[in-house]
Amino acid sequence: MFFFKEKEPEMVEIKGHYLTCPVCANKYFQKKRTTIQAIFSWYVSANCYICSECNYIYWFKHIPETQQ
Ligand SMILES: [Zn+2]
Repeated sequence: MFFFKEKEPEMVEIKGHYLTCPVCANKYFQKKRTTIQAIFSWYVSANCYICSECNYIYWFKHIPETQQ
């Protein structure tokens, strides 16, 4: 048997700071990797962090290693 299971929400550290939800002050987020269409056919890969309490979404553009 195989079950799909959501990962447990976890604290997220960005540049030495832990994310805190600006709406409910929660510190636990679900991490998702996604692609968004920004302008015309220009696609941007993004990391998003969804608050486990109120579903507020933080978006961060994913920068490939070669472009840094
Ligand atoms: Zn929240």
